[in-house]
Amino acid sequence: ARNALFQSQKLEAVGQLTGGVAHDFNNLLMAIHGNLDLLTQVENMPPKACTLVGNALSGVRRGVALVQRMLAFARRQQLHLVPVNLADLVYGMSDLMRTSLGPGILVEASFPLSLPPVLADVNQLELCLLNLAVNARDAMPDGGTLRISGRLEEISDPAGLGLPSGDYVHLSLVDTGEGMDAATLERATEPFFTTKGVGKGTGLGLSMVHGIVQQCGGALRLGSRRPGGTTVDIWLPLATPLAPSIAAPVGTAPAGGA
Ligand code: ADP
Repeated sequence: ARNALFQSQKLEAVGQLTGGVAHDFNNLLMAIHGNLDLLTQVENMPPKACTLVGNALSGVRRGVALVQRMLAFARRQQLHLVPVNLADLVYGMSDLMRTSLGPGILVEASFPLSLPPVLADVNQLELCLLNLAVNARDAMPDGGTLRISGRLEEISDPAGLGLPSGDYVHLSLVDTGEGMDAATLERATEPFFTTKGVGKGTGLGLSMVHGIVQQCGGALRLGSRRPGGTTVDIWLPLATPLAPSIAAPVGTAPAGGA
């Protein structure tokens, strides 16, 4: 079941990438289709040529249908941004995390109770966390610890993260694994970059996480020492701006009625 889940995550990542490719490919196929159409109108074509053009046309039509399906698939990946309580999300995933990580890896999660909800896509964020957990597992073949924590942070450095100034939740995942060397660290979020070898890694995990975090209006930063482990830092915008008048945390059941 774990493998099926992992495969479906990878498939979703592929879906995000195919969206762009499918669109360009659709335009190319349309041009080929147009030219073949013109060819069928050429007079005195030998019957053999007519058959070949007919075959080519039906191939192009199948291609167009396929690309349409890919586009429809990619469109489903549109993010659905809602207020998300990160502590609830992470604790809710603990069984899934444990299965993904295996017995040798300890997970420590810490979130302040007062942490405000972020604006994100729950399913995609869950997918991100699973991908990051799987990376941490792969970096700790002899076991170790994965620490997941969240805290409220005010960002006001226009240079650093490329985020507008304001309040964010800073989510960090720290593992005690093998870490990355400088060259790997630099390329880690590139699509299809992997050091895991044929059949083991697709190189899509971090690029997908990066894309999703950006689509949520957040930022991602990787830090690593080899040996010593890896830190994945993610900043996500708050669902509601903090204001002194908004005292009750959003997303928790109110104590009394209206
Ligand atoms: P994949 O996991 O399929 O290789 P990713 O995009 O998730 O693809 O990761 C790219 C590369 O970044 C990995 O192959 C690995 O070299 C490195 N990496 C990612 N996460 C970690 C981590 N927690 N510790 C060490 N290296 C990592």
